[in-house]
Amino acid sequence: MSSDYLVRATAHGGLVRAFAIDATRVVEELKRRHDTIPVVTAAIGRLSTGALLFGAMLKESDHLVTLQIQGDGPAGTLLATANGSGGVRGLVGNPQPDIDQVRNGKLDVSGAVGTNGTLTVTKDVGLGKPSTGTVEIVSGEVGEDLAHYLLRSEQIPSALGIGVFVNADGSVEAAGGYLVQLLPGVNDADAERIENVIRDLPHPTAMLRAGESPEQILDRIFGTDHQVLEQRDVRFHCPCSLDRAERAIMMLGADAVAEMIEEGTARGGAEVICEFCTERYLVSLESLARIRESFE
Ligand SMILES: [Zn+2]
Repeated sequence: MSSDYLVRATAHGGLVRAFAIDATRVVEELKRRHDTIPVVTAAIGRLSTGALLFGAMLKESDHLVTLQIQGDGPAGTLLATANGSGGVRGLVGNPQPDIDQVRNGKLDVSGAVGTNGTLTVTKDVGLGKPSTGTVEIVSGEVGEDLAHYLLRSEQIPSALGIGVFVNADGSVEAAGGYLVQLLPGVNDADAERIENVIRDLPHPTAMLRAGESPEQILDRIFGTDHQVLEQRDVRFHCPCSLDRAERAIMMLGADAVAEMIEEGTARGGAEVICEFCTERYLVSLESLARIRESFE
């Protein structure tokens, strides 16, 4: 498979919802754009993978879900926004904190994220005011925090296994995982069997590195007793554009625009950098003049 994708499935007569995802290339792209050190790659990679899984629960392609972790760790605020059609972008407060990245032979994600703070989930489903839920961070390992949110805020018992494997050279070898949700009505024996299987599963990146597909991860959990409802490509996506950059400048007001014209005369315009994808836009002097005129 040359691109990342997720699968959405159902089991036990619709009482169990399941998703599995390979987001390796998405996380590599996030790492490249934000120039993150490995432990921060793992943190934003897990959060973005989680956002894609949450995004798979949205009903419309233009609906948005944003996961934001404000922890007390040196990576600062982490944010990932996914839409309902498999696009995700991410933001990192501090991509290169000066910290020990490894503890007990593993990337110390909670050391970068922090173990105190909040996880906020915002859903914009086109109804005007987005809905928001906030919970305390439980571990700073991201996956556990997201599962805790789903249980506490949405009352859905969920098992979430997500991981990012970073190579010695900083590149991403594997990223992805699974989400299994027990809906009201699932019987105790089925729930216990699923929990036991998940407890014994290898780490998500171990499965992906062994070449297993999202479908095969679900096969491990459910055997043949599940139905795949959808396979969906996932990718890095930022909706920024030159047009949006110009509108952002307009928000700054007349004085700021006059200053940008003065400072930008030699360079032919003003540079706007999208903080979500690090794309650079040059807003021309002509456009700046037009924006200034709109204030008069
Ligand atoms: Zn952008």
